[in-house]
Amino acid sequence: MPDLPDLIPLADAQRRVLDRIEALPAEAVGLAEAAGLVLAEPVRSALTVPPWANSAMDGFAVRSEDAATASPGAPVVLRVIGEVPAGRAPDDEVAPGTALRIMTGAMMPPGADAVVPVEDTDAPAGESEIPASVAIHAAAGPGAHVRFAGTDVAAGAPLLDRGRTCDPAAIALLAATGHGSVAVHRRPRVAVISTGDELVPPGDPLGPAQIHDCNSLALAAQAAEAGAFVRRLGIARDTLADLSALLREAAAWADVVVLSGGVSVGAHDHVKAAFSDIGTLGLWRVAIKPGRPFAFARATVDGRPVHLFGLPGNPVSVFVTFELFVRPVLRRLAGHPRAFDRPARVVRLAEPMRGSSGRETVARVVLAPDPDRPDGLVARSSGGQDSYMLGSLAVANAMLFIPPDVDLPAGSEAIAWELRRPDA
Ligand code: AMP
Ligand code: MG
Repeated sequence: MPDLPDLIPLADAQRRVLDRIEALPAEAVGLAEAAGLVLAEPVRSALTVPPWANSAMDGFAVRSEDAATASPGAPVVLRVIGEVPAGRAPDDEVAPGTALRIMTGAMMPPGADAVVPVEDTDAPAGESEIPASVAIHAAAGPGAHVRFAGTDVAAGAPLLDRGRTCDPAAIALLAATGHGSVAVHRRPRVAVISTGDELVPPGDPLGPAQIHDCNSLALAAQAAEAGAFVRRLGIARDTLADLSALLREAAAWADVVVLSGGVSVGAHDHVKAAFSDIGTLGLWRVAIKPGRPFAFARATVDGRPVHLFGLPGNPVSVFVTFELFVRPVLRRLAGHPRAFDRPARVVRLAEPMRGSSGRETVARVVLAPDPDRPDGLVARSSGGQDSYMLGSLAVANAMLFIPPDVDLPAGSEAIAWELRRPDA
């Protein structure tokens, strides 16, 4: 038996992996490219919004004192002197006894301080001809249906904090307040490598003793879901030379390199040696099931830090260790204030679940609404829990944590990370 280092508890291993990782440098990107990226600086409004008073309705811009007495029984008739479409500054002033037809979003003309919606007049809605006069059936007070300058955002007002993700609402606000580009943290670059002489690409026919490479596809999808740029560099054969060549190519481009397989103590497991060639090995064995063999290293390539992950080979171990270690690192690099973002829920077990000796178990479970507790969730195993079993992974909507050395009876509580909404 080779000399094995101590098993490191999961929380300690996560702390070590995240230690001293900083957000990637900021860069200015156009708003169209900013979706999903994280603001590197707080943003203030560059404009007053709305920039000028405009109409909230299709209707007639009037002086409110002219419309003050209008009612269905005693309509007020005003002379219509023209119209203000959206996008054209009005050239007429609304004098007493007159009105301008106005469209939603068009600039309020001088003289007018209220808009009478077309529905409150005798003018047919959608009519293209400008009527010579209009009868108003409902009173309009000062400011009625007018969106005044600055009522949404004042120029210079703080809008969004540093660390805010550019989600659709943030992007809408940035665009409306005059920002064509924003300072965001660069999107992390992730290179993915599979290792193993038994692997062939998905869809290729299987020769004797061959299986399909599913890890690199799954990892690429997970990294993309976490907001990274991903390149798959293919399958390294089980030689140190082949692995090292691909690893160097990966580290020349990526912020994070994720390998799978070849990390345990088999005769053909070269990941640790390849990592040690280009960087400093950080840790190796973590007290979790699945995922015990796990290598983490840091390298400096052209002055840039590169984080190297050697995940186990079994596909479920790969999935789980990505969630536990790589996703938080990608979030930190992207500038998210919280590295861990999967919703953590306290759930009740619908059936007993076995832990493992000396290791924290990460079980694949299905969470469902608890019939006995409002807003509660119950957890059931999603199927076979061996680390090669992908069927139960695809069925699972959460990962449930069972502390080391305990078996949890039915009805007991545990923490689960939601991977998908229980009803989605
Ligand atoms: P290893 O740590 O390289 O011995 O791999 C452990 C197990 O995971 C073996 O059964 C491998 O065949 C399997 N495995 C390794 N890499 C992959 C992969 N990319 N896709 C599917 N299975 C894999
Ligand atoms: Mg292998």
